[in-house]
Amino acid sequence: MIPSPTPLAMNGMGLEAYERIARLYPICRSITGAGVRETLRIIGEEIELQIREVPTGTSVFDWTIPREWNIRDAYVQNLKGERVVDFKASNLHVLNYSVPVKARITLAELRPHLFSIPDHPDWIPYKTSYYTENWGFCLTDRQLQALQDPEYDVCIDSSLEDGYLTFGEYCLPGDEESEVLISCHVCHPSLCNDNLSGVSIAVSLAKLIRESARRYTYRFLFVPGTVGAITWLALNEHRASMIKHGLVLACVGDRGSLTYKRSRRGNAEIDRAVALVFRDAVPTPEIEDFSPYGYDERQYCSPGFNLPVGVFSRTPHGRFPEYHTSADNLDFVAPAQLANSLKTLVDVIGVLEGNAAFLNQNPKCEPQLGRRGLYSSMGGHSDDRRIREAALLWVLNLSDGDHSLLDIAERSGLAFPAIRDAAKSLTEHRLLEPSGARPKP
Ligand code: ZN
Repeated sequence: MIPSPTPLAMNGMGLEAYERIARLYPICRSITGAGVRETLRIIGEEIELQIREVPTGTSVFDWTIPREWNIRDAYVQNLKGERVVDFKASNLHVLNYSVPVKARITLAELRPHLFSIPDHPDWIPYKTSYYTENWGFCLTDRQLQALQDPEYDVCIDSSLEDGYLTFGEYCLPGDEESEVLISCHVCHPSLCNDNLSGVSIAVSLAKLIRESARRYTYRFLFVPGTVGAITWLALNEHRASMIKHGLVLACVGDRGSLTYKRSRRGNAEIDRAVALVFRDAVPTPEIEDFSPYGYDERQYCSPGFNLPVGVFSRTPHGRFPEYHTSADNLDFVAPAQLANSLKTLVDVIGVLEGNAAFLNQNPKCEPQLGRRGLYSSMGGHSDDRRIREAALLWVLNLSDGDHSLLDIAERSGLAFPAIRDAAKSLTEHRLLEPSGARPKP
């Protein structure tokens, strides 16, 4: 069971997650190359990450591992030698995966290679061209409007060569081989909410789970978006069915409320566990149905796998103006929101770990709880007592082998920990036995 951290400990973890984001922020990441490796190396200082390297050209289902992209420098320079757009000022200035270029060209020739956001004239957009050869610069609209010279020198000192796709994997074995998958993408350059927040919270969660006895095996994936998840599935197709529950973590650090997108199955145990935790959260988070658009749930929930994997976010991708711009920076994410996301995830894991079905050993009328000390031991606040007593009665009544503790928490309206604690007390008093049957998936 993963112990729920105290509020003070949680604040500390939110701060730690934020500081991890700040450390990873300057690195120029992409779907391949040195930036991903450096990111995984830094994560590996905290958790023992297995680093996998898959060569360029490897077939992974309908895809092929692309050439590896690396970049050293890039700029647009006027003929006086002044850099008017400089990769060293922000790695977002380069169209990610740009092919190398070095030329003196006219402004008219340059313009089709420039991208800005007129509505937000001080923000740099984040753009990629992974699978179509192109080069370009992303710049603020103010920078764009200031370009008045007839000619500029452009340089992108990048390389696209045979190499590897790199991803990281961290496995924490549990009592059971059945797995909980936690997946996040590691391919975005200097952007915080999307998705350094997911990366950082995955590390925090791994460190918490590592310290606890656990029923499930936990697998954490740090993969380049899309092609990384596809690669992992291609390499692990034989064992993907071990995944019983999964979450993609994305955009978990902004000030918006929590949002959950259901798995393709719609009513998997993970969907119900998150919904249960959300039911009791203030302010009430959002729950959305599955759609085949978004992050790596697109791969995990493709029909050939149909894994029970949902998406855990705050404000979903594309629904905040800062999304995929330089404004998704260190000011856009906050330690308190990171802590809240982590706490909620711990509560969800608590439901998964604690869910089980029991059999009432005294099913003919209610057992006499007072005689067993189950009523009299409940001192304290009367609300607490009422909840504990109600939980005992609900668990006894519905523990007929057909209902899991999750079913009981849903139906009773009581929080999962109260139901789980009631089952524990009743088991200790031999009024319940594990039903043997696994709860319905
Ligand atoms: Zn993104």
